[in-house]
This record gives sequence, C-alpha cells and structure tokens, in this order.
Amino acid sequence: TSFSNESCAKPLPKMPSFDYTPLPYDGPTAGEILKRRSEFLSPSFFHFYKKPLNIVEGKMQYLFDEEGRRYLDAFAGIATVCCGHCHPEITEAIISQTKKLQHSTVLYLNHAIADFAEALASKLPGDLKVVFFTNSGTEANELAIMMARLYTGCHDIISIRNAYHGNASGTMGSTAQKNWKFNVIQSGVHHAQNPDPYRGVFGSEGEKYARDVQEIIEFGTSGQVAAFIAEAIQGVGGIVELAPGYLPAVYKTIKEAGGLFIADEVQSGFARPGSHFWGFQAHGVTPDIVTMAKGIGNGIPLGAVVTTPEIAKVLTRRNYFNTFGGNPVCTAAGLAVLRVLEKEKLQQNAFAVGSYLKDGLKSLQEKKHDIIGDVRGRGFMLGVELVTDRQLKTPANAEILHVMELMKDMGVLVGKGGFYGNVFRITPPLCFSKEDADYFLEVMDVALSKL
Ligand code: PLP
Repeated sequence: TSFSNESCAKPLPKMPSFDYTPLPYDGPTAGEILKRRSEFLSPSFFHFYKKPLNIVEGKMQYLFDEEGRRYLDAFAGIATVCCGHCHPEITEAIISQTKKLQHSTVLYLNHAIADFAEALASKLPGDLKVVFFTNSGTEANELAIMMARLYTGCHDIISIRNAYHGNASGTMGSTAQKNWKFNVIQSGVHHAQNPDPYRGVFGSEGEKYARDVQEIIEFGTSGQVAAFIAEAIQGVGGIVELAPGYLPAVYKTIKEAGGLFIADEVQSGFARPGSHFWGFQAHGVTPDIVTMAKGIGNGIPLGAVVTTPEIAKVLTRRNYFNTFGGNPVCTAAGLAVLRVLEKEKLQQNAFAVGSYLKDGLKSLQEKKHDIIGDVRGRGFMLGVELVTDRQLKTPANAEILHVMELMKDMGVLVGKGGFYGNVFRITPPLCFSKEDADYFLEVMDVALSKL
C-alpha cells in the first residue's frame, strides 16, 4: 500500500494492518476503461473523485485498486455489502449453489428459495411472514405499492419529502427529491413534510410533522389512502433519522384512513442500525409491508417484499411473476448472509463500533471543525453534514468534494448525499472494526484540517 501525502501537512495516519495480498492485476487501466465506458456505457455514470478509481478486488472492509493500493471502504457499495466484500462463507454458498442449479422459476419447487424465505420471515415481527422475491429495491417498492393499492382499493400514496424509493414509474413518483426524478407522472402520490430534526421546521417534534400527513389526507384525498411509505433512516436523502414520535403518530393516522404502512428497509435493514435489525423497530411500530434489498445478498442482486398472509392474498387475484426474482443463487447468498450476521455478531458490532464512531465524529464537531454542522444516524448508518455557516446551515458543497478527495488519497472511501449533496454517508460493511473507526476519524480530521 502506498499513498501520497503531498496533500497532508501532518504525517499520514497509519492504516490498520490487514493480512491479505491482492491477486496480481494485469487488466486494463482506469484510463482504458473510462474510454470504453464513454463509448459503450450509459452516460449516467457519476463518481466523486477527480479521477475515477479502478477497483479490481474487494476483501471484507477493504477494496484494492489496479496498483494494489488498499482502501478502507466506509460506503460499502452504497450500504450494500453488509458482511464484507467476498466474505468466504457467502462466496462458498454462491459457488456451491451455482454448481447445482443456477435458475429456477416459480414453475418448480426448489429448497434454496424456500430455505431463505423461511429464515427471512423469522427475522420479522408479528405476522410478517409471506415473502416475494424481486431483483432490486425499486422492484420491491413497486410491488409493495401495487399490493397496497390492490388490498385497499385506494390509489393515494403518501411518502416523505427527501425520500428515495427507486427509479421506476411508481417508485420515482414516491421518491421526493428533484435530483432523482425525470418527467414522471406521479399519479396519486403526495409528499409530506420531512420530519428532519436538523433542517425541519419543527426540529425534533415528530408529532407536529405528523399533522401534515393528517392534512394531506383531509385536503388531498377522499379521506381514504392506500399506503404511507417511509424509510426509518433516509439514506440517499443524507442519513436523516425521522424525528421521534413521528412514525407512531402517522401510523395511527394512516390506519384511521384505511391505509397500510410500508417500511422501506432497503438501506436501513439487515442489522445496519445496530440497535435493531430493522430501522422501523426503533420507532415501536410494526409495518404491514416491509421492502428490502441492498444488504440482503451482500451485493448479489436480490430484493424482497415481506407481508402478512392476509395482504399477500391480493396476488391470487392476478398473476404476479418475476423471471429472476428469487433466483436460487441469490437466495443461497441471502441465507449465508443471515448465518454470517448471526455467527459474527455483526449487529452487535454495528452497535458498538457505530456508537464509538459517532462519538468520535461528534467530538470532531464539538472540539475541532466548525464546518461540521450535524452528526447523526445510528449503528453503521451515520451522516456528517458540512455547512459553511452553522447558523444559516449553508451547504458546504465544494468543501465536501475536496475533503473526499483528500480522504481517498489517504486510503478512505466514503459516500455523500443529501438534498444539497453536502452530507457524508458513512455506511461501512458491518465488520468495520474499532481500529478502522480510529483510522477513519484520524483521516477525516486531517482532511478537514486542510480546508
Ligand atoms: N429504497 C431505498 C431506501 C434506497 O436507498 C434505494 C436505493 O438506493 C432503493 C429503494 C432502490 O433500490 P435499487 O437501487 O436496488 O433499485
């Protein structure tokens, strides 16, 4: 591993040791890939760094570039690689299933699919036990919205401003950020005020924001709705935890309007919050439908909708079919993910190390860097919002990109997002250790000191 410290005044922090040698790489260079990418791939590609990184290998919480440089991955492929890159047990499960059967549709029985559905259902509370597999979070939310509409006979959906629920027509409608919308027809979708403790008008008073949902129902619908959909911790929106008291109050309102509560756990599920396995559990409500993807397969394409037997019956009224959803290779990976999470106590690690990291970030905010306006989140879903003025909360957009570049030069990869694009998203694989957290904090401190 060798990094330049040209951009750092202090000696470079020392990356924790890691006993792994990446395989020799003799593939194309970053420049060659970029050239082909611009010719043959969608122009929607975006990256954070001046020069995009060519990542050729991943091992647990680390990534390696074409020159064998090691990076601490504090983003995990957008909160996706929950157990660590190429985790040996998950890799083994994928290989073993790949040798036996790579594809099966609903036409035949196969135990790999049933095994995982049963194990997944055991992780959910109440009567949530019927699973539909999809290939992505978008598909899971599309299906959940369709099920709610079929079940209630209503069309109106309420989502929260600043939410991200996907990029197909139904989900793009419920997504509520201009950055992620094209010219979509948002038929029947209403966007409620965001109960954001940092930027919202009512601060942390969740019940006050909940009144907006009540008003939407009263003034924007017939009084009946199909569903309310929410992330317990907004991910793309910049790691925003919903103000306390909001979800229980909205839950009551939605039930009174005959609607269902859809919990979008695409980012906040699978032990990432640390305190709980699912984000909604921190709010003391049980959803009618839970959607998930990302962490479910440690990076293998898979998504799921889990609901009650009663709601699931709506899919007997029409054929619902998805060619690849519930592919046995993916479900074998999913089953191994649940085993590894349990065996390696990764939820406990997310809680302990995530709390430690959050304390360290708060200390950077309080003692050293005025540019840190807010530190928030839980477990391994943490956000650090940069502002050039703490009173005015002016987004520090140029500064965040500069800090990310410096951190990358010191071997740390982190994400960013939020409505203004000024929030660090810290969502590492759940095997991220206390030493990794110390290294991350040192690197962020050095980078912020360079501003
Ligand atoms: N829901 C949430 C909360 C997400 O963060 C995302 C993706 O970032 C999605 C849904 C869409 O998932 P996918 O990109 O797998 O379609």
